[in-house]
Formats: sequence, structure tokens, C-alpha cells
Amino acid sequence: MKDFLSERARGIAPYTAGEQPADRRYIKLNTNENPYPPSPEAVAALRGFGAETLNRYPQPCSDRLRQVIAQAEGVAPENVFCSNGSDETLFLSFAAFFDRNAPVCYADITYSFYAVYAAFFGIESAVVPLNKDYKIDLAAMANTPCKGYYIANPNAPTGVGIPRAEMEEFIKSVPDRLVIADEAYMDFYGESLSGAVLKYENLLVVKTFSKSYSLAGIRCGYALGSRALIEGLTRVKDCMNSYPVDSVCAAVCAAAVADRAYRDKTARLVCDERERLREELLRLGFTVPQSGANFLFAGKGKIAGGALYARLKEKGVLVRHWDTPALSEFCRITVGTREENDILLKSIKTILG
Ligand code: PMP
Repeated sequence: MKDFLSERARGIAPYTAGEQPADRRYIKLNTNENPYPPSPEAVAALRGFGAETLNRYPQPCSDRLRQVIAQAEGVAPENVFCSNGSDETLFLSFAAFFDRNAPVCYADITYSFYAVYAAFFGIESAVVPLNKDYKIDLAAMANTPCKGYYIANPNAPTGVGIPRAEMEEFIKSVPDRLVIADEAYMDFYGESLSGAVLKYENLLVVKTFSKSYSLAGIRCGYALGSRALIEGLTRVKDCMNSYPVDSVCAAVCAAAVADRAYRDKTARLVCDERERLREELLRLGFTVPQSGANFLFAGKGKIAGGALYARLKEKGVLVRHWDTPALSEFCRITVGTREENDILLKSIKTILG
């Protein structure tokens, strides 16, 4: 077979998404999805969507959706950028804001896509270890020469959050560097920096419809930032795809934003279950950092992470495990419904004997 791969494609180790095995029914606690369905308003928007209009392209910059998001977030539409999942915004932000000659800085244990994007664009990475409480070490990051930062807050896969005040101190301490706060899980923590983008021109906040809005299947994310940062993202978007957010997606997400009360109600249910599940796992001897997300990072118990993952899978429960030195002791467990979490706990108890 002839090999037509570019050097770039050949050289890269892509991100591996959570598995979706189809051999049986699983309780799926491996990709940090929301266990609840989307808002009834979002479902109604989908049902009511005028499919006969699909002969037309969507708005290139999703202006109607931007407007709804801007109003909800307390910013202007020029401060909002919409994309096909927040992964796309993150990808475009590497192209828009980083060059080969200046490193990008992020934690050693964090969303592993940052390293993939940096490698893809040939940008050097300055990697800073978490501190002993599994927290992102902002002080060490501030002392690391770089062009800017990716900070998942709360962090993945640990779930550990950084309070807004600490983030603001950090942002103020590095005025010449860009801080990209990836707030994919922020609605389970409640310390968002969204409003602060009007105050700090070195801050870009990235959010998603995939988690708290229960819309992982529709693929939509957005960024909030100064007009200049949003224009930067738009420049690179327009070198890649003029219409990344389709019309159906834009209509459904706008309806979901209008029904934020539903999002907040389901997020509260998830947070309550998270605390119950954490207590139970601690009682079973696991180390489980306090989480501000919709998942728990559990390990160092009587069973190694890989073995726990494999035994749970046999029992029809999927969790996430990474076979790397830093993570192999742990599993990342998405918080499910009460019934799902009960089955998870029962399975773990059986496995531990
Ligand atoms: N950031 C973090 C920290 C994540 O865990 C995820 C989900 N894998 C994303 C961003 C991307 O989410 P999406 O593309 O579904 O918006």
C-alpha cells in the first residue's frame, strides 16, 4: 500500500476518545456525559426546526446563538465565538494565538488534547506538575516562561477546581500572557470567569454544551473574550470552515441557553450524587480528590486502576482508565444517575470482595 500520509499526520499521536463498545448494554460512566436528557425546550426546538430551510447555509458566525449566549453571560455578541464542540475552539486557539518560537504552558495531568494540539502545530510545551493535592500549580506556572496557558478549571481528569479569586490573581500576575480557561465543567463548580473577560484582555474562557447542558451529541462549544481575541479565532475559523455550527445545532443550543434553569437543576442533581458517590468511595478506601466537575478521580485503593476498569467493564460498567505512570493507579468515573451510581458501587464492592 502506498503511504500518502503527510509528515505531520504520520508524526502525531492523536487523542483517544472514550470507548463506545457495542457488544452489550453498558452503564456509561467513561466520557463525562450528563446522565439526564437535554432541556425539554431544546428537544422542542429540534422537533420544531424547519428542516425545509436546510437548503441554506447557516450563519457563518452563528450570530443568533451568539446573541443568546452573550445575553446569558453578560457580555456583548462581539465577545462570543461559537464552534463545533469546544474542542474546535481549543484547536483554533492554538492556531490563532501560539507560534513555534514560544512555548505553551499547561499542567502535566490535564486534558490530554492540549498536548495533541501543541504537537500538531509544532508548538513547544512547558509542562508543570500538579501539586501534592492534585491542584494545578499556578505559582509554578507564573514562573514558567511561555506565551500563554491552558488551564482546565475544574481540571480533568482530577476534577479539582480553582476558585475564581485565585484565577483572577493569576491572570493579573501575567498580563502579557494569554490565559485560556477551559471551563467545560464549570457549571458543576460555580466559579466561572465569564464576566471577567471584559476586565482582562489576556483571558479567554472556553465553554461547552456537552456537559451541563446535556448536549454532547450536538457538538457545540463557545469562547468568551475581548473583541480582539474573538476576531483572532474568527480569522483562523475562516481559514478552516466558514460554517462550523449548523443551523439545527444553533437553534437547539439557543433554546437550551434560554432554559438555563433546567441546566442548573440537573447540575445540582449531579453535584449531590457526586458528593454521595465520593463519600462511598472514600469509605471503600479510595483516594478521591474533592471534585468540582461531573466526575471523580478515584484510585490508590485495594485495586489498581487498570484492574478496576477491566473488572467493571466485565460487569457492564464503563469507566475511564489511562495506562500512564502518573494515572495508572486511578480511574475517572463520571457521575451517573442515582440508580447507575448504585450499580457502580455494588459492582465495586463485589470486586473488592
Ligand atoms: N475541555 C475539557 C477539559 C474536556 O474534558 C472536554 C471533553 N472531552 C472538552 C474540553 C471538549 O468538549 P466538547 O468538544 O464536547 O465541547
